[in-house]
Amino acid sequence: MKRNYKIIVIGAGHAGCEAALVCAKMGLKTLIITLNVDSIARMPCNPAIGGIAKGQMVREIDAMGGMMGLITDKAGIQFKILNSSRGPAVWSPRAQCDKELYSVLMSKYLQNQQNLEILQSEATSLIVKNSKIYGIKILTGEIIETDAIIVTTGTFLKGTIYLGKIYFEGGRFNERASSHLSKSLTEDCGLVLGRFKTTTTPRINKLSIDYSKMQEQSGDAKPNPFSHFTDIESWRKNLKQLSCWLTYTNSTTHKIVRDNLTLSSINIGKVNSKSPRYCPAIEEKIKRYPEKTSHHIFVEPEGYNTNEVYLNGLYTGLPFNLQQKMINSIVGLENAKVIRYGYAIEYDYSNPLQIKETLETKTVENLFLGGQINGTTGYEEAASQGFIAGINASLKILGKDPLILKRNEAYIGILIDDITTKGVDEPYRMFTSRAEYRLSIRNDNTDLRLMDIGHSIGLISDKLYKKFELYKKTIKYIYKKNIENLPTDKDLHPWSIEKAKEEVCIHKKYEGYIEIQNKIANKIKKNEDRKIPENFDYSKIKSLCAETKQRLMKVCPQTIGQASKIHAIKPSDIAILTIYLEKQKKERKNKNIENN
Ligand SMILES: Cc1cc2nc3c(=O)[nH]c(=O)nc-3n(C[C@H](O)[C@H](O)[C@H](O)COP(=O)(O)OP(=O)(O)OC[C@H]3O[C@@H](n4cnc5c(N)ncnc54)[C@H](O)[C@@H]3O)c2cc1C
Repeated sequence: MKRNYKIIVIGAGHAGCEAALVCAKMGLKTLIITLNVDSIARMPCNPAIGGIAKGQMVREIDAMGGMMGLITDKAGIQFKILNSSRGPAVWSPRAQCDKELYSVLMSKYLQNQQNLEILQSEATSLIVKNSKIYGIKILTGEIIETDAIIVTTGTFLKGTIYLGKIYFEGGRFNERASSHLSKSLTEDCGLVLGRFKTTTTPRINKLSIDYSKMQEQSGDAKPNPFSHFTDIESWRKNLKQLSCWLTYTNSTTHKIVRDNLTLSSINIGKVNSKSPRYCPAIEEKIKRYPEKTSHHIFVEPEGYNTNEVYLNGLYTGLPFNLQQKMINSIVGLENAKVIRYGYAIEYDYSNPLQIKETLETKTVENLFLGGQINGTTGYEEAASQGFIAGINASLKILGKDPLILKRNEAYIGILIDDITTKGVDEPYRMFTSRAEYRLSIRNDNTDLRLMDIGHSIGLISDKLYKKFELYKKTIKYIYKKNIENLPTDKDLHPWSIEKAKEEVCIHKKYEGYIEIQNKIANKIKKNEDRKIPENFDYSKIKSLCAETKQRLMKVCPQTIGQASKIHAIKPSDIAILTIYLEKQKKERKNKNIENN
């Protein structure tokens, strides 16, 4: 008898896990299929969750009932609010994680979830009938029927691993590639695939490091959890934070890299595809910034029960003997011993212009794509898409309206809007500068922005939602200084009076600025038809970065609207361009008056 499910999720990385959990929680019989059940929710690169703009996305997933925040709180070994010296609008939580524990906890969560089954196998092809999903075929030849499929295959599609001149098939080091599915995605589903690449750093043994020569980077004295639902007091009491350390590359390191650039896999022409601009290999950094004599290297523990340490900033595709030499040239790492070498990986991705804002493909009904397969990079970007793909696949099966988050509601809305309208020509990652409404979509108010949505979908329980409603009322009372009959912390738990007061304080601080921000955003919208003069010289706009100038000069947009649709052009760039054009217009007008 043929097995059948309402939804099948292919892949159990950060996108696949969020997707599968959502579908099962929404009451649909779901199967998650993965090449290796021992590597569920693995972090193949940095053992950390969150960071600038990414931390906000994790909190957004959490506010709607996703898992990444809760698991990070349980597996975190160091918690920090980044940008804490600046205003709350740009505060971003980040946690160093015990990566093994993260994977184990997520795996256990999947195993315990009602309506969800896990299968270790390879999906080799998708079965499509009349342009609609019918099922999948797996490596054993078995056909499994389903109403919808969510593909979250990360870096595995035709993955090729490079270590200097050596290269071989692989989805990650020591994990085989997914070599069949690309053919089906192109031939059966009509998708066009491209190639991207990324690199990771070597891991070394902490016992071989001289920490006395480095600067200690400790976690926050009063750490904050990611999840809105973590009991903050007991969590703080039980948390044992580990330190990270800071050292730097130097002229010797740079010489080793420069002298051997031709041997790196990112340069020998085998890896021709684009890599993430913002996590470049050390080879790329040294080439791109020849004037710099040193770069930061953050030395980060990978967990409580391992000696392995991650060298953040030393992403590389150099051959292994040179990796060892490069590491030993760095202060504090003179005797460091490599446990795992860094490597580059190249894989197939599908340009997200081929999906709708629901993350369903335009070519095949009920086929959804989420995560790195859509040309993004990062665990948080992947989890966000997996979560939304899971919700929208479920809503579609249930015959309900889709969930489309707006740009002024959530970073997740910006991510999906950006990739589905502009496409990608290099791996996409999130930044606060991509958000034109960043003063209102803050880290502190993710619950106020999104918990209603999570509850309406059925991912936030009625019991918790009642507490949340009381919290919202409390905020209103405090805002209006009506503080006589406030509820107790016990009534509000896991929220609190302190949290409500903080929220009011931040809101009041930003009220005026948010009004200005909205006016600017509206002005940009109104200015969409504004003409940009032919042969306009972008190099004259000092406040635009080199990357933006390059992209604008390449496309030569005729209007502001066209400029805003260019890949990687941010709302802040458009604001600068609009103001510059306005200034020029005024100057021209004044000159004309003078001449007359
Ligand atoms: C070497 C390397 C370096 C990286 N560097 C960075 C970096 O610098 N910065 C950054 O932000 N991110 C980096 N990443 C990317 C980060 O790992 C991903 O963004 C994130 O893990 C993507 O999540 P995902 O869920 O889309 O896919 P993944 O986490 O890759 O998970 C894919 C899942 O799909 C499964 N799968 C694949 N094909 C099949 C199939 N046919 N059948 C069944 N199961 C299948 C796999 O078993 C796996 O479970 C790096 C990744 C690698 C491998």
